[in-house]
Amino acid sequence: MPDTNETTELSIGGMDCADCSQTVRSAISRVAGVVSVEVYLASEKAVVTRDPARSNLDAIRSAVENAGYRVRNGAAAGSEERLGGAAALSRRVLTVFGIMFGAVMVIVIAGEWFGLIDALTARVPYAIGAAAVVFGGFPVFEKVIRAAMSRRITSHALMSLGVVAALVIGEWPTAAVIVLFMRVGEYTESFTADRARHAVKDLTARAPTSARIERDAGEIELPIDEVVPGDVVIVRPGERIPVDGKVISGNATIDQAAITGESMPVEVSAGSEVFAATIAGLGAIRVHATKIGPDSTFGRVITMVEEAEANKSDVQRFADRFSGVYLPIVLGIAMLTFLVRRDAIATAAVLVVACSCSIALATPIAMLASVGAGAKRGLLIKGGKYLELLARADVLLIDKTGTLTFGRPRVIDVLPAAGCSREELIGTAASAEFFSEHPIAEALRAAGREMNCPLAEPGRFEAVPGQGVRADVDGRTVVVGGRRIVSDASDSPGVVELESDGKTVVFVSRDGVCIGAIAVADTPRPEVPAAVAAARAEGIRRIELLTGDTAAAARAIAAELGVEFRADLLPEDKIAIVREYQADGHTVVMVGDGVNDAPALAQADVGIAMGAAGSDVAIEAAHIALMRDDWSGVPDVIRIARRTMRIVKMNLVFTGVYNLIGLTLAAFGILPPILAAAAQSLPDLGILGNSSRLLRPK
Ligand code: ADP
Ligand code: MG
Repeated sequence: MPDTNETTELSIGGMDCADCSQTVRSAISRVAGVVSVEVYLASEKAVVTRDPARSNLDAIRSAVENAGYRVRNGAAAGSEERLGGAAALSRRVLTVFGIMFGAVMVIVIAGEWFGLIDALTARVPYAIGAAAVVFGGFPVFEKVIRAAMSRRITSHALMSLGVVAALVIGEWPTAAVIVLFMRVGEYTESFTADRARHAVKDLTARAPTSARIERDAGEIELPIDEVVPGDVVIVRPGERIPVDGKVISGNATIDQAAITGESMPVEVSAGSEVFAATIAGLGAIRVHATKIGPDSTFGRVITMVEEAEANKSDVQRFADRFSGVYLPIVLGIAMLTFLVRRDAIATAAVLVVACSCSIALATPIAMLASVGAGAKRGLLIKGGKYLELLARADVLLIDKTGTLTFGRPRVIDVLPAAGCSREELIGTAASAEFFSEHPIAEALRAAGREMNCPLAEPGRFEAVPGQGVRADVDGRTVVVGGRRIVSDASDSPGVVELESDGKTVVFVSRDGVCIGAIAVADTPRPEVPAAVAAARAEGIRRIELLTGDTAAAARAIAAELGVEFRADLLPEDKIAIVREYQADGHTVVMVGDGVNDAPALAQADVGIAMGAAGSDVAIEAAHIALMRDDWSGVPDVIRIARRTMRIVKMNLVFTGVYNLIGLTLAAFGILPPILAAAAQSLPDLGILGNSSRLLRPK
């Protein structure tokens, strides 16, 4: 398909329930020319991909409005956000009111047994009572009708049927109480949706909105979307850095908590990289802007958190599908009750007790809370799907270079062959590695600079992933790398000793003759053993180290960690190993740096990239990106996943059992409609409380 499609982001107002995003989604997807649409409850937005030739935004706008929601335009969204604060507050007050009122009503309901209902029915004319019910329930009825027109049956539709049933049999006070609880339910739901949104909004609130720019005339303050790469941004002490960039001059200590969740300040000076949304402590700096707004690391994190809802877990899909199956079943039970027991009151009770609001809410809320709480701690989780997979993962694969070690190896030994000097060997190798981004190449170049070897830019250059490089240096073919690529690599006693000591040895050949070997070593990350042990304690049964390095080099480090290892692997071998485990029914987590192991990370059920701050590739490639370059994030995120799934399952089992009991009692006429109405609103509160626990880090 030629890609002439346009993608537009719309800000949607009025989505206050779990069903809402589905309703909006189905309304938009039926507009002609819409190719795909994703609606996000938490960030209140719809991302629509459409064919501009066959559709227009007005049609989408009116579809949304017909479904009972609003499309806000960009500028208005901001001001409404501020208004939103007040609106949210008044809504909260209303909620508290609603709940208190509900509690009072529960007491009043007890009056049913004391004849209160009969007394009311006898004294107040039916027409007045019925009118009050219709008036009081109007906002809910309206939504039910609008949803029905977009061919969606919501759980409030069933309750509305219950209201109708109660009115038909002349019990308007019962209808009134049902309406009351429907309204209470509405408030609880919107309160809950709000709570969930907070997890994301707290994050967006940290996004910089303006920047002070150096222009020839002096300093000007610009809104962030007018800043362009190359601008020089001035940051004073205590200010939030507005862009990603490089420090040109000045010194400062930076609190990077907004990105990494780590508040320990980092020192920066000329040449250092800084990130948007982090805060300058002492000292002022001038920053050369490279990435701005949505392109900055922080901007990408926000987008991914906002869109995490799209990566639904199986439980979430189950919950979504559940209401589709559940509501017809309840309707069936209600009909059976009516046909078999000829009891209109029990039928109304069945319709009322079955509201499945909480089932639809429980899962997304819990997932969102965890994604939001994770993002604040520098753990970017791209969706509930990965939390679910991570919670049941049993295999952890670790890429060695850059993951177990800092990825900044240094040359520790130089072993030139006879007739070749140390300088010549290092100089040749470093020149061949001129264009390579591999950490080993970096080490060789650094050694070359240190030893003042003359470096030459190679002519032809070729990097062979997992093996080494081949390049033309001063007209001669130079190959640097492992035994696989340097065919006549010689295993001198020195080489063997270095390798068995865990060092990485690369060989250098020139015009097919080996001119020596160079040993490099990388500092292991000190926190790894504890983190690996913690992951094991969280239930990861098999941990394996995968490396392109030799077995000798891998053995030492694997033994220290007490894990298995496989060595001499090419990048495609790593992917094959992940597949092997998956074929055996394992759920595989792979931890890497997200740069040269991206394909294996993508193949794993959950690919975790370490130290992803500032690395677009890593953020893009991984399912979970750890902004901080610290292994403790691995067991942390596993812990979050397990806890989330525990709470999700608890919510589901609780609502399932609760509704089953409620339905049974209602069908047998034990639970009167009034109590049924009160009873169905309780699980929402329970679930709200249970899921909000995830907002608090443990
Ligand atoms: P790992 O699996 O540990 O991340 P790689 O797959 O990146 O390691 O590399 C595996 C091996 O290939 C290295 O140990 C080294 O011998 C060789 N190699 C790869 N790239 C280079 C390079 N640019 N220069 C020298 N050797 C290299
Ligand atoms: Mg690697």
